Amino acid sequence: MHYFRYRKNELYAEDIPIRELVSEYDTPLYVYSYNTLTRHFKAYQDAFNGIPHIICYAMKANSNKAILRIMANLGGGADIVSGGELYRALKAGVKPRRIVFAGVGKREDEIEYALQKGILMFNVESEQELLKINEVAARMSRKAAVALRINPDIDPETHPYISTGLKKHKFGIPIEDALQHYRLASSLENIDVVGVHKHIGSQITQVRPFVEALERVLVLIDSLKKEGIEIKYLDIGGGLGIQYNDESPPHPRQLAKGLIPLLKGRDLTIIMEPGRSIAGNAGILITKVLYIKQGHERDFVIVDAGMNDLMRPTLYNAYHHIVPVKKGRRSKIFADIVGPICESGDFLARGREIPAVKQGEYLAVMSAGAYGFSMSSNYNSRPRVAEVLVKGAEHYLIRRRETYRDLTRGEEIPEFLK
Ligand SMILES: *Cc1c(COP(=O)(O)O)cnc(C)c1O
Repeated sequence: MHYFRYRKNELYAEDIPIRELVSEYDTPLYVYSYNTLTRHFKAYQDAFNGIPHIICYAMKANSNKAILRIMANLGGGADIVSGGELYRALKAGVKPRRIVFAGVGKREDEIEYALQKGILMFNVESEQELLKINEVAARMSRKAAVALRINPDIDPETHPYISTGLKKHKFGIPIEDALQHYRLASSLENIDVVGVHKHIGSQITQVRPFVEALERVLVLIDSLKKEGIEIKYLDIGGGLGIQYNDESPPHPRQLAKGLIPLLKGRDLTIIMEPGRSIAGNAGILITKVLYIKQGHERDFVIVDAGMNDLMRPTLYNAYHHIVPVKKGRRSKIFADIVGPICESGDFLARGREIPAVKQGEYLAVMSAGAYGFSMSSNYNSRPRVAEVLVKGAEHYLIRRRETYRDLTRGEEIPEFLK
């Protein structure tokens, strides 16, 4: 559920007509709804109210400082995957003790930075990484709190690019090898084993894979207990899907209903890492129709947002609803909605039946709040777009549009070329 609605045929973000935002901030423009973000966060909070838990928002979905601050103000933490994300999270006011650090390739300087700031735990993805964290912690005379990321070999039945919990994936430690890795971890001087982590993929639209993965991990936790290794934190990852098209993903309440019975009576704090299900439907991308080109097989609607602004369609062949900001009765056309980038892969939609849009009008690409701006780039030397947060009848610029000057920032022409 979100707060982007039509009123009298005009699209609104909460109580503000998109038209007003466009005239103030221009296009392309990301627009986020404060009340949608909070509603989504609270849905998790309420659903898991009965058991000790921390919601560590997966900030790679959308890492704008203002959005992180919203999560922090609601009591949330952050799931980070780089030193840069740690920096952002701290800047935004996320408490270090609510930060968990995942990722298969943590560099030494990133490990050091995280230890220095005192994050809650590292989600460790390999034996070598474990040894490296131990080594860095020893050098700093610290103890590093770790969870091992376990790959439970569960098929989440989602897009292959966003599925992570199968044997063939680079993520985590195969569940068969987990015990051995935990034995090693608990023998290391500067490692404090505190948790188990799993994350099986993204855009998962059923509860069953979550339940199956949890069952497997709980068996592991019981075996660890027999060996004298006590687990405090069970990090169940993120991955709950959202509605892009005609999916009907479970509500966090349904997820909780599936998981809580398995967790009751255990002395565990549950960590969750939702990203997409918090931010996805809380954001839209507004774009302007530049030209309409009539082709022989289909029409091309050429808009001012490209794959550098929203990569999901070309990267995952992802579907996004695309709707006119001003609705009205009109005929349909069969079209590709494409950007200005010099790549055939630069499309927002392909082979879509849409209302016959006109040159100069505005379109909204829906469900673009997660993995939208955060994946954007400057490809084709396009300044990254502005981001705006709407709360009721107020709107706030939370990232200014980049300028041409921003494009060459940091570049140098070597002396011998001058
Ligand atoms: C990407 C990621 C998430 C978030 O996934 P969503 O599908 O956006 O909820 C959570 N945990 C880890 C480790 C991730 O890599």
